[in-house]
Amino acid sequence: MTKLLETEGLTAHYGDFQALFGVDMTVEHGETVAIIGANGAGKSTFLRSLTGLQSTKGQTIRLDGQPIAGLAPDKIHKAGLAMVPEGRRLFPSLSVEENLLIGAAGKRKGPWDLKAVYELFPDLVAKKNNPGTALSGGQQQMVAIGRALISNPKLLLCDEISLGLAPKIIKDIYQAVPLIRARGTAILVVEQDVGQAMAVADRIYCFMEGRVSLSGKSSELTRAQIAQAYFGTE
Ligand code: ATP
Repeated sequence: MTKLLETEGLTAHYGDFQALFGVDMTVEHGETVAIIGANGAGKSTFLRSLTGLQSTKGQTIRLDGQPIAGLAPDKIHKAGLAMVPEGRRLFPSLSVEENLLIGAAGKRKGPWDLKAVYELFPDLVAKKNNPGTALSGGQQQMVAIGRALISNPKLLLCDEISLGLAPKIIKDIYQAVPLIRARGTAILVVEQDVGQAMAVADRIYCFMEGRVSLSGKSSELTRAQIAQAYFGTE
């Protein structure tokens, strides 16, 4: 069966500086995959490459069999990749519901609409007319996830969704992941919290200095293997 996402030997540069060195990755339909790795390992650069924010002209990235490398970000979004950006980036002058509906512009057919997002995050219902920025950090993260889901992506990309949130809130946010996958949406999360990544993902890729230092099923990787792949130490 066609993979949902495939990259082959992906590289990325910032001027003379090389940030990615030949990353091979796959995500299956319906799968939850996590990318872990220390600061500067290349995780965000990899996501930026997938979404068209980083140049990938002439490289091999396929989404559901369709080549997407070198396409503009809006074309990649239409093809079925939606990103929950680091820092959430809500529109401050718009209400929660208006922020959510922005994601619906040019949406694909699928299971996600306003009703489904409110079922996923019931806390947002009472806040729907509030400005997005009048919410707690966790609720803002829920809006950012809902906004990406409502476009009905084939693959939802999440960049460090737990960053800056309290442990209890992180738990609440991550409770949404099984519910999202239950509706058939595949998820690729970048996460610095290894325990959280292991708990939520079917498979893990660990990045170190722009390379995949380890990959495998979360249930089969040991803490020692991960520590070695994450820090390069025994
Ligand atoms: P973090 O968790 O800190 O976001 P990361 O794993 O996402 O780290 P990247 O942000 O992808 O890592 O960075 C990978 C490498 O590329 C780092 O060495 C970083 O300094 C470098 N880098 C990232 N963005 C730029 C840029 N705009 N210009 C130059 N170098 C950059």
